[in-house]
Amino acid sequence: QAKQAGRNGMRFFDQKMQDKISIRARLEEALRHAIVEQRFELYYQPQVDQQGRAVGAEALIRWQQADGSFMSPARFIPLAEETSLILPIGQWVMETACAQLRQWQDLPHMAQLVMAVNVSAAQIHQRDFFEQVHELICCHGIDPARLKLELTEGLLLENIEEIIGTMEQLRKIGVCFSLDDFGTGYSSLQYLRRLPLSQLKIDRSFVDELAANSNDQAIVTTIIAMSRSLGLDVIAEGVENLEQRRLLEQLGCHRYQGFLYSQPVPARQLQRWVAARHPPLGII
Ligand code: C2E
Ligand code: MG
Ligand code: MG
Ligand code: MG
Repeated sequence: QAKQAGRNGMRFFDQKMQDKISIRARLEEALRHAIVEQRFELYYQPQVDQQGRAVGAEALIRWQQADGSFMSPARFIPLAEETSLILPIGQWVMETACAQLRQWQDLPHMAQLVMAVNVSAAQIHQRDFFEQVHELICCHGIDPARLKLELTEGLLLENIEEIIGTMEQLRKIGVCFSLDDFGTGYSSLQYLRRLPLSQLKIDRSFVDELAANSNDQAIVTTIIAMSRSLGLDVIAEGVENLEQRRLLEQLGCHRYQGFLYSQPVPARQLQRWVAARHPPLGII
């Protein structure tokens, strides 16, 4: 009888695995279609300084579903990364962000913004990544200093020398780098010192309960100290309320991104948002 139950258990497990695999396969298939049919859009979330002025915007991909809703990139980017579909997707993101940046450079109130673009490991590992980005910069006629690439710590664990080489090539033409979700991976000061970064981005998970959690305060304080000693600027993501904003400022972080300011929105909406604060309102 125990044997019987075991078999049933096994069958149940198999069924669950099967379901998971077929859900994944269907998602992958849908993602391939989405690439061909260009079902993606970029939304933009402002990054602001101490005076509440927009200094940049992060491009965040959205996948439009048949019913008009959007699937979160948190769901499909990991799959795209496992299947190499991130390469065509990443190319589309970079191209679209550069075209948008070009348009902003022609709008007086948008011309100062830096465009932050998320880049996955597989993208920067491509041999011709530098050439790809360089060509986009040239063909769109954008100021490379207005382009910031967001990398995550985890991505930097493999072939670090190669990545540093690519980063340095880009750095030389003016492109800058931010280390995204900082604090969630493993980075020593020694290691960070070798990367041509210009910014650390404090992960949202430390900002969430900043007021109530003294551990998080200690971590944020350490990240800010690290950024100072490395000569980098520091930005906090996931800033949702004024209390977090005030604490971050007290701790020495002067760049903020989060729902307190704006959700990620379509380009036109961001342009209106920036225009409404230009000249700055001076509160937050
Ligand atoms: P990320 O780069 O860390 O982006 C920040 C995420 O936090 C975004 O989620 C943003 O909408 C969300 N967020 C911003 N402010 C707040 C806030 O105040 N509270 C909360 N709770 N969340 C906030 P999103 O757009 O769903 O993107 C999720 C992740 O997907 C990104 O995390 C990034 O890792 C990845 N991703 C998005 N677009 C791209 C892309 O174009 N290329 C690549 N490679 N990855 C992307
Ligand atoms: Mg990011
Ligand atoms: Mg982030
Ligand atoms: Mg994050």
